[in-house]
Amino acid sequence: MHPQRREFLRTLAGGAAALTLSRAAFPDAAGASPVATKLTDKITLISGAGNNVVALAGDGGNLLVDCGDAAHAQDVLKLAGPVKTVFNTHWHLESTGGNDSMAGAGAKIVAHMNTKLWMTQEIIHDWEKKTYPPRAKQAIPTEAFYKDGKTTFGGEAIEYAVMPLAHTDGDIYVHFTQANVLVTGDAVQPGRLPIFDWFCGGWIGGMQQAQRTLLGIADDNTKIVPGSGPVMTKAELQANFELVTRMREDLVKLLKQGKGPEDMIRMQAAKEFGALAGNPDTFLYTAYRGLWAHARELGGIV
Ligand SMILES: [Zn+2]
Repeated sequence: MHPQRREFLRTLAGGAAALTLSRAAFPDAAGASPVATKLTDKITLISGAGNNVVALAGDGGNLLVDCGDAAHAQDVLKLAGPVKTVFNTHWHLESTGGNDSMAGAGAKIVAHMNTKLWMTQEIIHDWEKKTYPPRAKQAIPTEAFYKDGKTTFGGEAIEYAVMPLAHTDGDIYVHFTQANVLVTGDAVQPGRLPIFDWFCGGWIGGMQQAQRTLLGIADDNTKIVPGSGPVMTKAELQANFELVTRMREDLVKLLKQGKGPEDMIRMQAAKEFGALAGNPDTFLYTAYRGLWAHARELGGIV
């Protein structure tokens, strides 16, 4: 067996247990009061309900991009009013925990096919020491697409598409083209060390590519809404992209030297990015696992 492969398997057996894991990796906003902020006449950002929720007002109801966590679903319904449609940017519970309540209130749930499929499966997040059971039938999207699509809602044109293998393998952006609001989900994680859901196909190269795609869509007036945190400009997205690129270069260098996640954690390989929020060990571990899955396209190891 190739020594790196052996090292990797050994790491698999013991590495995850050595991690200091943090709920900060996937914050739940329990206790916080969700707040609504107008982005345009018809589009409102609801924050503090898990991940960001974006509501577009139409005739007699709203279209939401993500709906927050389960604990805040009633708050979101109160702030948004009736909901007709919910787009899920990816399966994580901070973004889709409210699906059950939204569907119960009559909303149609739309997502990428992979997001829908993950919701029917048990998902293991070793970095959180957590297993997520399949979702209740009501929470599962009733409409799923593979690549992209267009629609209109309340007179507003909407374009959406998958960003393959970024934070998960089902990440989508939703672009309100006339209002020039671009909702990115967790493919953009500003101000903190990004987390890659490697179990569900996320990796840093995919996140780079996702951000390249988003930079190609945005202009200087676009309001970019990340999965969590404040609204961004294109310049801020560009800066985040450059940061992710630097992270990838650093980690690939170490990977090619045969370093495993325990080595990277021991070396404090994320200390250059120490100003960012988030757990460096979780970042290094999930980034490594994602990179390993793409070792061949990175030119192999050693
Ligand atoms: Zn997420």
